[in-house]
Amino acid sequence: MARKPDTPCAGGCGRLLWGTSTSLPPGERVCQRCRRARKNAEPDEARPEACGYCAEPFTSKRRGVGLWSWCCSRTCARRLRIAEGDDPFMVAAALRRETR
Ligand SMILES: [Zn+2]
Ligand SMILES: [Zn+2]
Repeated sequence: MARKPDTPCAGGCGRLLWGTSTSLPPGERVCQRCRRARKNAEPDEARPEACGYCAEPFTSKRRGVGLWSWCCSRTCARRLRIAEGDDPFMVAAALRRETR
């Protein structure tokens, strides 16, 4: 089976990438250059955001790949989860586990 680059870069440059070079699904594969540019545009450390609960400006921190904190504080995160319908008892228990 002839193998050739067949997955267009999702970074916008249109370069064809090897389909099997990463485990990412098509549409999320980006070439080295775009990946670097994207990383520069999205610093790992912190970025300004508005809190998802009280709307106060705060500095969001990366919590994982593509995951950022969305509240200014644990208190807001907890209130947001309760507001979204989580059982307050379960939220409190989860927070106790996290802070331990
Ligand atoms: Zn690219
Ligand atoms: Zn807040």
